[in-house]
Amino acid sequence: MKGGETKKCRKCRKRAVVSLKTYKISLCDTCFPPFFERLVERDVKKYKIIKEDERVLAAVSGGKDSVALLSTLKAISSSLNFHIEALHIDLGIGEYSRKSTEICKKLCQELEIELNTVKLAEYGFTISDVSTKKVCSVCGNAKRYIFNRFARENGFDVIATGHNADDILANFFKNWLSGNRWWIEKQSPRTEGFDRVITRIRPLFLRTEKENAIYVLTRHLPFLADECPNAPQDRWKEIIYEIEAKIPGFKQNFVRNMFKEKKEVSDFRYCSICGEVSTSEICQFCRNIMKYGKNREA
Ligand code: SF4
Ligand code: ZN
Repeated sequence: MKGGETKKCRKCRKRAVVSLKTYKISLCDTCFPPFFERLVERDVKKYKIIKEDERVLAAVSGGKDSVALLSTLKAISSSLNFHIEALHIDLGIGEYSRKSTEICKKLCQELEIELNTVKLAEYGFTISDVSTKKVCSVCGNAKRYIFNRFARENGFDVIATGHNADDILANFFKNWLSGNRWWIEKQSPRTEGFDRVITRIRPLFLRTEKENAIYVLTRHLPFLADECPNAPQDRWKEIIYEIEAKIPGFKQNFVRNMFKEKKEVSDFRYCSICGEVSTSEICQFCRNIMKYGKNREA
């Protein structure tokens, strides 16, 4: 593009505010939000993330990812026919938690979604009481426990969280390095529950952090820009960001391939020429012989 030239929205020709290299599309602030919602709706259908008539409990903190999650689920709830409510946990992290609770109230009012709130203090402690270096692991454990118990005791079928492609990829690298390969299954778009454990869904698993931020801004939704004061610096996200800058679409392609349906091992046959195991009538090796072999018929 020449200097000074501005891109136009592919749909309405207004000035574009976002160019998504992965989709080779530029969009304006009016056309981006419905585009984003359609992408999520497509993924929810394709990966069977939500079933008809399910009662969905969305975890909200007020951060951009959970705000994008709640608004998008609300937007697609009538066409996909499911019920949606929100659950916010007041973790007791001083000013951060106070602002976070305020934003969740405002957001749910705007979206006309019922907001349920649980205070961690009701269980006898808050995150501010945790003085160890493991504050995030205590906090993560408390959130998982409370979401699960609240969902089960209040008749919800699934718990939705705002995990995005960046989160899933960063966690993938961390866990792969520690040898926790089984972990990939736990981050799939839908992890079925068992016994007292409620099903977990991640409808934004293919959306990037950047897309979520643009969605929240262009939909003019309230959100909390402040990070939790305990948030650790994530070097993996910085590395992933650098790879994405060199290979546009890397994040989404990687995460999509992580959850691609596995080809059944039983989907094989025997090559009709050599008899070795093959996925097609004639195996690739025999086809290569036919193509490049010196003895092939002219
Ligand atoms: Fe909890 Fe804050 Fe750690 Fe997130 S960053 S797990 S909210 S303590
Ligand atoms: Zn437009």
